[in-house]
Amino acid sequence: MTCYKAQGVSRKDIRRFVKKIKKLVGLENELYFPIVEFLENILPEIIPDFQLEILPRLVMGDKHGETFPNRNIIRIREDVYDRAVEGGERDRMTIAHEIGHLFMHEEENISLCRMNSKQRLPAYEDPEWQADAFGGELLASSYLIEGMSPCDVRDKCGVTISAARVQLNALHK
Ligand SMILES: [Zn+2]
Repeated sequence: MTCYKAQGVSRKDIRRFVKKIKKLVGLENELYFPIVEFLENILPEIIPDFQLEILPRLVMGDKHGETFPNRNIIRIREDVYDRAVEGGERDRMTIAHEIGHLFMHEEENISLCRMNSKQRLPAYEDPEWQADAFGGELLASSYLIEGMSPCDVRDKCGVTISAARVQLNALHK
């Protein structure tokens, strides 16, 4: 089985990195992260050649989003983008996940690996785990949600109840 392996990043590293980004754009104290505005207006300021492509289902097929970190391109399927604009929690997370790939997964940080089917990559080296952890932290930042209930996190941060639970459960990891 061939897989992609990323340079190891711990949850702590991801938290620190996300906080740095949020601070940089003055959003570190906002519970509700404006992910679509960030994608459309703020990312092009941080990454001057950033390109956002909103593409129809006909082109994207089953993929909700796709990122080419070396070319600074993020593609989001049109219906996913439209729902994110309306505040759709799952779709907001899809965008946050893709932004994680953009920031963390340039070619030099990624390598191909071969494993037999019983082996599993440790989470901290799995680019999908890393992008999920980044997305969760961007939308429901650990330093802001301490002591909140899952429903509060869902309502205030605009994430699904399961994402809220994952973030709360990860607080002390
Ligand atoms: Zn991904």
